[in-house]
Amino acid sequence: MRFISDINEMRRFSKDANKLGKSIAFVPTMGFLHEGHASLLKKGRELGDTLVMSIFVNPIQFGPKEDFASYPRDLKRDLALAEANGVDVVFSPVPDEMYPEGFQTYVDVENLSKYLCGLSRPGHFRGVATAVAKLFHIVKPDTAIFGEKDYQQLAVIKRMVRDLNMDIDIVGMPIVREADGLAMSSRNGYLSREERRAALCLYHALMKAGDVFGKGVKDAGVILKEARSVIEAEPLARIDYVRVCNTDTMEDLDRITDRAFLALAVTIGKTRLIDNTVLSNAMQGRPLWSPAAGGDKPPPLHNLVYNMVSIQNFGLK
Ligand code: AMP
Repeated sequence: MRFISDINEMRRFSKDANKLGKSIAFVPTMGFLHEGHASLLKKGRELGDTLVMSIFVNPIQFGPKEDFASYPRDLKRDLALAEANGVDVVFSPVPDEMYPEGFQTYVDVENLSKYLCGLSRPGHFRGVATAVAKLFHIVKPDTAIFGEKDYQQLAVIKRMVRDLNMDIDIVGMPIVREADGLAMSSRNGYLSREERRAALCLYHALMKAGDVFGKGVKDAGVILKEARSVIEAEPLARIDYVRVCNTDTMEDLDRITDRAFLALAVTIGKTRLIDNTVLSNAMQGRPLWSPAAGGDKPPPLHNLVYNMVSIQNFGLK
């Protein structure tokens, strides 16, 4: 496995791979890897001859009061995990080389960035789209893999690729969860023991909403009320948003006709967590639970009739 931080060296590597007719699969990350990232790497390994993963904590997607400086970093561990997951190249550019003095060109996916996290984190998706566009130009992938954990981000990237005629297939992968249902996130490490317990209210709220929807309720207001009540019962939780939206445009829906995107952002203590699920008529009756981290027991809400993902252990040690 190669480690590259120099942008020109990365470009040369990709040019050479292209010349040899080798396809490149690309997984952009901010590091501090977990099994969610590993699931993307596994997919990338299947889809490309060469697998490139970037580690870049992108300063321009963080707001002034957000956690850019304290975002967890552990390069040594990340490199070991990357190697264990079949990565050929880890590309980790430095912010000053990505955004040199005089930098002033941004990618703004206007409408999709107006909703949900775009409202609470102004400029966030502009920062994400700009960094990802730059990484795409440098790495020149044929395929790039993103997690549905950041569903709105995935929608923004798909739109950007379409609008700017980038010749890259964008692949979305399901959310990987801890055995009790908490969506894996590099930020989970911020949680104290008590907060970690409280953080389960996000998953439980999704389950509750899925349960209500599964029983035939299509009124978004009713579904939202049920989901909110689960989070509001948790004293350590503060809701940023709970929304039922169109899966493509992210606009609010009053009624679910076929499918909808249920998105949550909740602050637990000082840690802002997001989670989501797609509520879809076609998915009703699917099995409730497939464990993420090797457990074989369902999570506590085993009376519910709805779940979204089936993920196994991805070989992280
Ligand atoms: P991050 O390092 O948080 O920027 O995430 C890098 C990529 O991993 C993004 O495409 C995320 O959506 C994806 N990702 C993060 N957490 C998960 C998860 N729990 N399940 C699946 N993908 C994830």
